[in-house]
Amino acid sequence: MTRKLFVTTALPYANAAFHIGHIMEYIQADIWVRYQRMQRDGDAAREVHFVGADDTHGTPIMIAAEKEGITPQQFVANIAAGRAQYLDGFHIAFDNWYSTDSPENVDLSQSIYRKLRDTGLIVTKTVDRFYDPVKGMFLADRNIKGECPKCGAKNQYGDNCEVCGAAYQPTDLVNPFSVFTNATPVMKPSEQYFFKLSDPRCFEFLKAWLNTPGRLQPEMVNKVSEWLGEAGEKLADWDISRDAPYFGIPIPDAPGKFFYVWMDAPVGYLASLKNYCDKHGIDFDAFLNDPSTEQIHFIGKDIVSFHLLFWPAMLKFAGHPVIDKLKVNVHGFLTVNNEKMSKSRGTGISPLRYLDLGMNPEWLRYYIAFKLNSKVEDLDFNGDDFVARVNSDLIGKYVNIASRCAGFIAKRFDGKLADSLSEHSQSWIARALTHEHNGVVIERQDSIAQHFENREFGKALREIMEIADITNQYVDENKPWILAKDAEKTAELHDVCTTALILFRQLTILLSPVLPGVAANVATFLNDEAYTWADTQVFGDAVSQRMLGRTIGAYSHLMTRMDAKMIEALFDAPQAAVAAPAAEAANDAKPAAPALTASTPASAIEELAPEIKIDDFLKVDLRIAKIVNCELVDGSDKLLRLTLDAGEGRLRNVFSGIRSAYKPEELVGKLTVLVANLAPRKMKFGVSEGMVMAASAADEKANPGIYILNPWPGAEPGMRIR
Ligand SMILES: [Zn+2]
Repeated sequence: MTRKLFVTTALPYANAAFHIGHIMEYIQADIWVRYQRMQRDGDAAREVHFVGADDTHGTPIMIAAEKEGITPQQFVANIAAGRAQYLDGFHIAFDNWYSTDSPENVDLSQSIYRKLRDTGLIVTKTVDRFYDPVKGMFLADRNIKGECPKCGAKNQYGDNCEVCGAAYQPTDLVNPFSVFTNATPVMKPSEQYFFKLSDPRCFEFLKAWLNTPGRLQPEMVNKVSEWLGEAGEKLADWDISRDAPYFGIPIPDAPGKFFYVWMDAPVGYLASLKNYCDKHGIDFDAFLNDPSTEQIHFIGKDIVSFHLLFWPAMLKFAGHPVIDKLKVNVHGFLTVNNEKMSKSRGTGISPLRYLDLGMNPEWLRYYIAFKLNSKVEDLDFNGDDFVARVNSDLIGKYVNIASRCAGFIAKRFDGKLADSLSEHSQSWIARALTHEHNGVVIERQDSIAQHFENREFGKALREIMEIADITNQYVDENKPWILAKDAEKTAELHDVCTTALILFRQLTILLSPVLPGVAANVATFLNDEAYTWADTQVFGDAVSQRMLGRTIGAYSHLMTRMDAKMIEALFDAPQAAVAAPAAEAANDAKPAAPALTASTPASAIEELAPEIKIDDFLKVDLRIAKIVNCELVDGSDKLLRLTLDAGEGRLRNVFSGIRSAYKPEELVGKLTVLVANLAPRKMKFGVSEGMVMAASAADEKANPGIYILNPWPGAEPGMRIR
């Protein structure tokens, strides 16, 4: 029977660019998908469909769009347009990238809802909700601010205090106000639609579902069982409705009511698959009803309740076939130097900056894979460890084999591999590619395949690197560079280099789910077709027979060593982020771990950023601003505080890391260039409302100067630069 796989990852919320946590999850799923694509079941290639989508609905996006003066649809389209550079950049090969704001998702969500209603699992209850009488809109917790009931801090959100950390209800706030109009919210009754998770049918089903072998990781079975309680007493009904105005899918037969975004978001997996099936002539219903279809879903541990309680229960009682096919793989968070990345604390790695720095995406794929296992564990990114792992394994062990042997084949044998191998070399091939387990000789590719299948990528890579170690030992013992000096040892040289390249090819195929770009280049170099797992079979001499006597292409460098300086540049130290303002605009990096300092690669000038379209440029609103005041900042030897007039009828406060280059009095009264639509940034010394632009050299040691921009006479505050 041919396995049919439908692979999905959590849908990113379409209010921001991807962060490194998304990229980690996609790399994990992509490696698994690429491994599956290499498999055959009998004579047929395994059927694998890998789909994703933007999660688009809800209040945050509606409000963000309103602020920009565009429709939510336009807002979401702008975010979606930025996805490809990340996905292509890290070799993440979704078959389809779609949106929850789509006709397919409307149909599927509404049809699931109707079936639930017909089954008696939708109930309505009237609840009191906060309402903004000026805007005429119900308010979510985060739309209400006020004074913290615990510490009295002003301007705190309705759910928790950012000063003292207290959590509370919006009703607890002192002097609450709507963030939209400053009006005092009033309580207003509203009829809400609930999914009846407390129904005994849901408990009975969930209990059996989550205990189905192979469905969930054991630790997740335990966790979700706790949420169910002994007899389902912990399961509460779930409010799936929101009142207009809301950017979402209308609830059928309920005017003015929309599905809560978390109701329709998971349906987006099916909507993307449906859209993909329609585009490729695949029968969506037949695929989902096929007994050999499985859905493998990769998600983070923070969104488990939505995916392991509400979603399966809703699918089940809507009679949806995918429910029996669902297997969920939950991963932990990506931490940096053992700290959780967080926006407010400002630690993080920007995926775009990684690419902009010219860092090889396959380094990151390898490192993430090396650290991944099948458990719900956090994965720690440590810069020194990253450099050491990549340089030692990929350069020192793997690439090294080809770079030491390929040249001799080209120079001495016209690019042709030997027609046969010595017994000595054949025994080394067997030693590298097989091992004994309980007295039985087995192929390593079998155990490596099991590790990939079980998402134990770290174990797979360790075993692959054992093959690389043995291959290097073979090359070291047979010393082709010595053999090359002795004309009588030409046949031996041919034998050794051919053997090394046979093993190198085997390593490449085994690594190809992790390093797809390198594998494609190696296939070209070795005159190979696209690799399948069957190409790794050792018994019956298959591995060597495919290569003997073959003419191969010219070897060109496959991968460079990582320079440790790149890691420093990957992180923005908080001060450095301000000292290099031009660099900050080009990426979405957050200030990071204090132990690290920023620098740029020591090349003559910085490499140009990837090409952009005019629309990308127009997203950055540059304005002429007059520096009406400028002061030193107490406690900072880097910053100046600028008061700017950009013709808006108000003044802006901007911090800039230019103290080393300018005295405050030199700047007062001058015009300069302001990035006017940059999100305000909370700093130690206050909020910075934009950024002034300045030039600096890539090599700050050679040229530490910082030069702010000054327009030609005639320009006036508020003029846009385009
Ligand atoms: Zn507080």
